[in-house]
Amino acid sequence: TDKLFEKIPAAPEDPILGVGQQFKADPRAEKVNLSVGVYQTEEGKIPVLNVVREAETRLYKANKPHGYGPISGNPDVDHYIQELLFGKDSEVITSKRACTVQSLGGTGAIKLAADLLHVVLGKNKAATSAPTWGNHNTIFKQAGYEVSHYRYYNKEAGTIDFDHLIGDIRALESGTVVVLHACCHNPTGLDFSEEQWKTLLDVIVERGLTPLLDIAYQGFDKGLDEDASSIRLFAKAGISFLVSSSFSKSFSLYGERIGGLTVVTQNADEAARVLSQVKQMARANYSNPPLYGAALVATVLGDPKLRAEWEQELAAMRNRIREMRELLAEAMKKAGSPRDFSFVTKQDGMFSFTGFTPEQIERLKKDYGIYAVANGRICIAGLNHKNIEYVAKAFTAVQK
Ligand code: PLP
Repeated sequence: TDKLFEKIPAAPEDPILGVGQQFKADPRAEKVNLSVGVYQTEEGKIPVLNVVREAETRLYKANKPHGYGPISGNPDVDHYIQELLFGKDSEVITSKRACTVQSLGGTGAIKLAADLLHVVLGKNKAATSAPTWGNHNTIFKQAGYEVSHYRYYNKEAGTIDFDHLIGDIRALESGTVVVLHACCHNPTGLDFSEEQWKTLLDVIVERGLTPLLDIAYQGFDKGLDEDASSIRLFAKAGISFLVSSSFSKSFSLYGERIGGLTVVTQNADEAARVLSQVKQMARANYSNPPLYGAALVATVLGDPKLRAEWEQELAAMRNRIREMRELLAEAMKKAGSPRDFSFVTKQDGMFSFTGFTPEQIERLKKDYGIYAVANGRICIAGLNHKNIEYVAKAFTAVQK
């Protein structure tokens, strides 16, 4: 018999997506899914944005054939990505010193970045925050990097461990790719202050490090422009850096796999050469990206009325999450939680790091059908007026 796969070990289940599968299989009516990083409505559903529905209608009516698109994707989307990141009249755009390639979501953008820096430039070290979104580590490892971690979280204080973080970043070998969350840090929900970003930028420049700013939640903290402020700070400094962006959350287009890699260089000539290399990476991996999600995004962002409506729909998602943070803190108080939960109102974005131990997370699942990530991360968007009291009671019970 053929022995090719005889000894292949089973890979571990994805720590987040695996929980989602368990949730689906749970027959309890009261079950709550706080695991996956997906925005859900008050009804616990993934929304179809009104602007997306309108764009779908327009595309349906246009009835265009499904031919191949360019390797770099929909050129309008590539342009809108730059506008969202840097602002409409920014120097980066007018000087043409950045290039953007449409990618398979934010994940695909990170992979393109990793391939570009490793294959073309020979970089082989990357550093991610401890903790981070697990796929950061997996993507860079799979792309051939040695991955180290800089300290990020002070568990006792529930804050960013900034002094240790700066020390760790300072100690990195020059050229190391430093993966940063531009906003809405996943999983801690703790973002740098403006001062901290400036300090970090100085150290990055001084040490000759290569920043990759990952922005998967633009619009989920304070607003589209505000959430890109770290990226604009780096742009203003005139350094070369990379940005991975995603429309999965901001357009609720998770399964359409739409995002982009933007590489900011020193001038238009450099940007053109980088673009040719990134296109080669894309061509060898998947030839060219899917067009449908890109067409939806381009339709919305290309129509001033739809764009304004999109911003309102995005604000509504952001505000619902904020409201749930306030309600959770109140409900925990009412339920008699031994620990003050007001920290959830101070965190940014979709997630909260609850401080629950893996054992407590396991009890939440077993006894209450409440699913969260083993590291204690919950997705606030999984909460609603109907389940919040139930969740608060369970959160209180497992602490006792
Ligand atoms: N980066 C971070 C920090 C994320 O949390 C996610 C999604 O969960 C992504 C990137 C990638 O998102 P996607 O590939 O679904 O667009």
